[in-house]
Amino acid sequence: MTALAPLSHPVAATIRATIQRVLTQVNALSAGGPGWTRPSYSDLESQAHALIEAEAKALDMQVWRDAAGNLFARLPGQDPSRTPLYCGSHLDTVAEGGAYDGQAGVAGALALAAALRATGTTPAADFILTVTRAEESVWFPVSYIGSRAALGRLAPEDLTARRVDTGRTLADHMRDQGFDPEAMLRATPPAPARFLEFHIEQGPVLDRAAEPFALVSAIRGGLRYRAAHITGAWAHSGGAPREGRADAVVAFADLVMAMDRVWERFLAQGADLTVTFGRVDAASPAHAMAKVAGSLDFCLDLRSDDPATLDAADHAFRAEIARIEAARPGVTFDLGAQSRSAPARLSDRMLDWVAGGAARTGATPRRMLSGGGHDAAAFAAAGWDSVMVFLRNWNGSHCPDEGMDPADLALAVEAVLAALLDEAAA
Ligand SMILES: [Zn+2]
Repeated sequence: MTALAPLSHPVAATIRATIQRVLTQVNALSAGGPGWTRPSYSDLESQAHALIEAEAKALDMQVWRDAAGNLFARLPGQDPSRTPLYCGSHLDTVAEGGAYDGQAGVAGALALAAALRATGTTPAADFILTVTRAEESVWFPVSYIGSRAALGRLAPEDLTARRVDTGRTLADHMRDQGFDPEAMLRATPPAPARFLEFHIEQGPVLDRAAEPFALVSAIRGGLRYRAAHITGAWAHSGGAPREGRADAVVAFADLVMAMDRVWERFLAQGADLTVTFGRVDAASPAHAMAKVAGSLDFCLDLRSDDPATLDAADHAFRAEIARIEAARPGVTFDLGAQSRSAPARLSDRMLDWVAGGAARTGATPRRMLSGGGHDAAAFAAAGWDSVMVFLRNWNGSHCPDEGMDPADLALAVEAVLAALLDEAAA
């Protein structure tokens, strides 16, 4: 593989300036700190989309929105019959989230379009900047709302999901922002094409290895119980003997330790799995120091690259619950609704395509799994040739301290640009 001549200074400068400008302007739109908060289908998310629309128009791109409010902007290719490349990410955040989750992917996609303009290159196929709505499932308990809407894969019942903070439905919030949920359900999705998403890693692997970016070969799916409940029996902490207690906290502790052993066993067998409990609440504010807790709420998040592993882990989870209920009379578990997102294998062809571009810039990015779910999973599930490019980040993710170096994103953009320039010259 011969290396491309280094990018001319103005093109590299255009990439860096576009990334910096998009990140700065989008992050100025937040409901307040600490960190950044742009809820799904909020005015702030709409304002962020409007900002990217203006940027795309300044590059003379053709802009449109679908009925769910996803934003698209086309840079026409040499041959309209060739499979387009859609490239982008989302602009909503979790509450008190970071400066890069989602934003970096949109900034990278726009920087690619700006770089194509700066080099005077007409890409081989249409390049379509893609800004999805409502990727973060913390607001509505539905995965990949915007991208699945764009792909014609959102179901009518998904529209009745309620936003956690407002209690109003997804359909109501779509209408508030000027979109049409009924038209969305009737819409014909675009033909399957190629999808590329830049995104921060949300894990420590690349930072520890001192590698600026990587290619993602698969995305873990999830199986979740968002509102599970344990019922025990309230009692006096001093008066109730050990014998005969139905302590919800002890039953929960049993379950957590049992699932940690299940997790260890699955890993020892070579399966890919993560097990995470959270939002543990032993009946506050009803609880007090002098009480044996008769009630406890929790959630569970299982993730794997294999649906069969998720099913097997769920089976083990239910078996442990049955064992604990039998061993602790008076304790009962109610798991509530289960929600799932399917694991996604990304496209070998796209992985090789980006790797080829990276090699032209002298980079040799590793291939790795994504632990978090992303829009690229929804595109892959719909039969698109999808790929992700992960960016080194630190201080975790979904938190105000989420760190990323825009220079790493610029290197990743240059790698994809090299692949696009090769394709245009072929
Ligand atoms: Zn994200």
